[in-house]
Amino acid sequence: MKRLGGVKLSHHKNTENCSSQKLPVPEKVRIPMSMHIGAPCSPVVKIKDIVQVGQKIGDTDAFMAVPIHSGVSGTVTAISDYRMSNGRTCKMVEITTDGEQSVSPEVKVPEVTDKDSFLKAIRQSGLVGMGGASFPACVKLAPKQSVDTLCINAAECEPYITSDYRQMVEAPDEVIDGVRQVMKWLSIKQCIIGIESNKPEAIRILKEKASSYPEIKISVLPCTYPQGAEKVLIYNTLGRIVMEGQLPADQGVIVMNVSSVAFVSRYLKTGMPMVQRMLTVDGDAIKNPCNVIVPMGTPVADVLNFAECEIDKVKKLLYGGPMMGMSIQDINDPVLKANNAILAMKKSQSPKSSACIHCGRCIQACPLDLMPPQICKAYEGKDVEALQKLKVMLCMNCGCCTYVCPAKRPVAETNQFAKAMVMASAKK
Ligand code: SF4
Ligand code: SF4
Repeated sequence: MKRLGGVKLSHHKNTENCSSQKLPVPEKVRIPMSMHIGAPCSPVVKIKDIVQVGQKIGDTDAFMAVPIHSGVSGTVTAISDYRMSNGRTCKMVEITTDGEQSVSPEVKVPEVTDKDSFLKAIRQSGLVGMGGASFPACVKLAPKQSVDTLCINAAECEPYITSDYRQMVEAPDEVIDGVRQVMKWLSIKQCIIGIESNKPEAIRILKEKASSYPEIKISVLPCTYPQGAEKVLIYNTLGRIVMEGQLPADQGVIVMNVSSVAFVSRYLKTGMPMVQRMLTVDGDAIKNPCNVIVPMGTPVADVLNFAECEIDKVKKLLYGGPMMGMSIQDINDPVLKANNAILAMKKSQSPKSSACIHCGRCIQACPLDLMPPQICKAYEGKDVEALQKLKVMLCMNCGCCTYVCPAKRPVAETNQFAKAMVMASAKK
């Protein structure tokens, strides 16, 4: 089968053999009331309240949202405003920890007997897409369309990040059980797990674990970034094309990240909601690259100290990988549900860009066959109609075009501005 393209990157999987470790309980956590796409929660605790691990501290009636829970025990010492990456604000609950890590009586194994009770449990768990998307899982798992395939994103195609890999090799039974639970309660017939070929140990273990379940297949994929992007993964594993304006469910597919599906298994067995996550800490400013399990809301500074970061030398600090990661503005910013990595680099690459030389490399690199130079021209000319014809809304900000551009032009960034222009014109 023809596969969608992309670019070859150096993997830098320096932490692939680093077993997960638990971060010591931080002195304080600051938990934003929005760690998901959709409506922010409101705090359901107040200053001076005593909270315990697993206790709900924020919720909302909104459809596109999930509740927020505490990953520490301690006292609520502040409720303030927090500026999110999209520029909007939400409330943030600060908890000063007591070091006890006492577990809340609210933590109970959910009673799941059918699809509705499963979806209700998934909402209560606070699960969002753990691969970086932060989409509420309870919404993703309840499409109106009929779905026949669960596609698991185990590609982990961004350089440096190995937290999904550690999940697969350290607890593969959670992955397979999570897959089976989702398939069972949503009546999905088949599952395909897409893994890049640079993870032979994970491939071997999962193939062995899945061998008793013919409905679960492992698809070994070439190491081509962005193999884990939803549209790319669906095409490369199933040959189905998610058209412009469509969702994966329109092609009969639900895509879940491998760590998310493993969380489903843990939650259904323990009732402990999403209060912590594993993330990779790496980069040339990190002396002790590692995979570390961190309570939500932990200051990035605590994680950097644990990994022996040379903080005074850091020029670039990212949530996530080097291709799609987002800048961390302040080292006291919190770890969020979708953060699968923190990267600390000594160099900040801000190359001087020059005029487009019309080499076409960005077009060749784009997995979705978009035309970045034409998009740029239409954007500069404020030509919304042309942008729509050029299908700019398909752009997934994967960064392949920027990566290959010899003129060092901010190609993907321009596409994001162009998308914003199209969306703004649609609202008029
Ligand atoms: S145009 Fe968009 S989808 Fe295509 S390579 Fe660039 S960022 Fe990726
Ligand atoms: S890769 Fe850069 S220089 Fe080449 S066509 Fe694209 S934008 Fe222009």
